[in-house]
Amino acid sequence: MSVFGDLTGKKALITGGGRGIGRAIALEFAAAGADVAINYVGSAEEAQDTAAECEKLGVQAFIISADVSKADEVAAMFEQALAQLGRIDILVNNAGITRDALLLRLSDDDYDNVLAVNLRGAFLCMRQAAKLMLKQRSGRIISLSSVVALRGNAGQVNYAASKAGLIGMTKSLARELAGRGVTVNALAPGFIQTAMTDAIPEAAKTQMLAGIPAGRLGQPEDVAAAAHFLASDAAAYITGQVLRVDGGMAM
Ligand code: NAP
Repeated sequence: MSVFGDLTGKKALITGGGRGIGRAIALEFAAAGADVAINYVGSAEEAQDTAAECEKLGVQAFIISADVSKADEVAAMFEQALAQLGRIDILVNNAGITRDALLLRLSDDDYDNVLAVNLRGAFLCMRQAAKLMLKQRSGRIISLSSVVALRGNAGQVNYAASKAGLIGMTKSLARELAGRGVTVNALAPGFIQTAMTDAIPEAAKTQMLAGIPAGRLGQPEDVAAAAHFLASDAAAYITGQVLRVDGGMAM
């Protein structure tokens, strides 16, 4: 039995759920008994592997290809998820990209693409999910923001804007849906060991580590545990919040 309670019978859709933090969330939810739809855009094999690992935990798991920045693909993804799962109780907006550069070198495309995936993608998914959850009068929407939204980060003007935007979106939607049994929250991870942070040069990593009171980098499972809590019945009275999972980095 999991610490935060059972998710048996719950149906979850996790964007970018095939690898990194999304994969850890899919596995955490599956271990708690939830059936999962795992979205991916490029990594079909990783998504398939994650689904197979979830199935080993005794739940149903499906993969769905969709670029979350495209409205038609998001609509089709929700149709497919509904056809396979019957309902959606939990949406995790996890899909995200970085295209880092100092402002003076930041191209229009790199600005637009990061905003399109990280912010528009979440908006498109939230709109689909809200429609279903309003009818159900229950649901959980959890979005992956970042400590960078709270503190800023040189070289990430585009990424920080997208992640700060997610916080405003989360709080606004939380107000819209609170009376209907739907909670909307954000997670703000610090420095979590995944492919996204593997790309950071060693010297910069060492410097970042010095700013983490916990004295270690975070693991995807650290974030997944927080997502599980927010998805659980135990978090029914928590909405519009930003939960930092950062070893004390941004307190
Ligand atoms: P990651 O390892 O780079 O994985 C990114 C995921 O997003 C992949 O599953 C990828 O799918 C998916 N994705 C990217 N573009 C997509 C699109 N257009 N449509 C659908 N899926 C798309 O990143 P991560 O470290 O696990 O990060 C997950 C989330 O946490 C992101 O939102 C990130 O910003 C946030 N976060 C991460 C950290 C950290 O330190 N790692 C810190 C704070 C916040 P494919 O593999 O199919 O391309």
